[in-house]
Amino acid sequence: MIATVDRFSRPLRDLRISVTDRCNLRCRYCMPREAFGNDAVFLARKELLSFEEIARVARVFASLGVEKIRLTGGEPLLRREIEVLVAMIAAIDGISEVALTTNGTLLAGKARALRDAGLRRVTVSLDALDEEVFRSMSDTRIPLARVLAGIDAALEAGLSPVKINMVVRRGINDHCVLAMAERFRGRPEVLRFIEYMDVGTTNGWRLEQVVSAGELRDAIGERWPLEPIVPDRLGDVATRYRYRDGAGEIGFIHSVSAPFCASCTRARLSAEGRLHTCLFATRGHDLRAFVRGGATDAQLSREIALIWAARSDRYSADRAEETAGRVCAEKKIEMSYIGG
Ligand code: SAM
Ligand code: SF4
Ligand code: SF4
Repeated sequence: MIATVDRFSRPLRDLRISVTDRCNLRCRYCMPREAFGNDAVFLARKELLSFEEIARVARVFASLGVEKIRLTGGEPLLRREIEVLVAMIAAIDGISEVALTTNGTLLAGKARALRDAGLRRVTVSLDALDEEVFRSMSDTRIPLARVLAGIDAALEAGLSPVKINMVVRRGINDHCVLAMAERFRGRPEVLRFIEYMDVGTTNGWRLEQVVSAGELRDAIGERWPLEPIVPDRLGDVATRYRYRDGAGEIGFIHSVSAPFCASCTRARLSAEGRLHTCLFATRGHDLRAFVRGGATDAQLSREIALIWAARSDRYSADRAEETAGRVCAEKKIEMSYIGG
């Protein structure tokens, strides 16, 4: 296979597929209720790619070099029988890993079926262990215990590793960082801290609310000394550390303070079949039109290869160079639409 590379020689290796733009939480940094309230308009059923359509597109991506696929959303476990899609994707030649990112609220009832279908890895988003902070950040009445039960079920089902993603916002949940680290030290889950990003246009992002990965690492390292782990894979988004006392690993995703655009090998497919070559891309490429318009796999493959070859995105690196807080002139896509 000839590697498909973009204008900065980055190969196409990972695909994130959003399977729905709906969610049962309203995290204030992602789907604030002011913008995603009762009258919010979501994609209609017929606009969503079917499982067959998603699997077909995934097969074409695999033929272009994609090895790793992550299902996301919105909340991917809201899509009925998502395990059927997992099985379809796991069966594709060349796909070595199928993973899923979820808010965990529906995971307890699904973990076993997902594992049986071929899912290997799951990432659960969890921003606090304090009930009040959790409910306030996620703007929900769903109890935190549901998420914790989901994490336990994932471990019991043998999903490995189970990663826990915590988005940290200054003044909102930064006081919960040490408690999170303590809870997951010495456990099989791998905790990762994510810098709050300026995705979309509805969350009112401000640079002052970003707690940098360096600041977090110093605070945790002061309490429990850390040492770096050498990265083993191009496109790894987290900088990994291990506790010196042998209590396991933690990671930091420093998308804002130290962008990793130079090694970004990731494409994103929205629930309605638009291909985005960057999390911050304002416009996607309509692959659904090809899929539903009778294109052959060869035509679809050529289209995707052309899109990737023309790719020159490096939004976060540009933002960092231009000093943070740049206002994007065009309307950026929302995180709940593209799935992070
Ligand atoms: N609903 C699922 C979940 O929450 O895990 C999957 C979709 S969610 C959009 C994917 C990830 O994006 C979550 O880990 C979430 O915390 C993260 N996220 C959403 N908005 C973010 C922001 N503004 N900055 C950083 N991470 C964000
Ligand atoms: Fe839903 Fe995930 Fe966004 Fe929270 S981060 S609102 S759980 S899509
Ligand atoms: Fe990749 Fe775009 Fe994020 Fe840079 S800003 S790491 S190119 S998704």
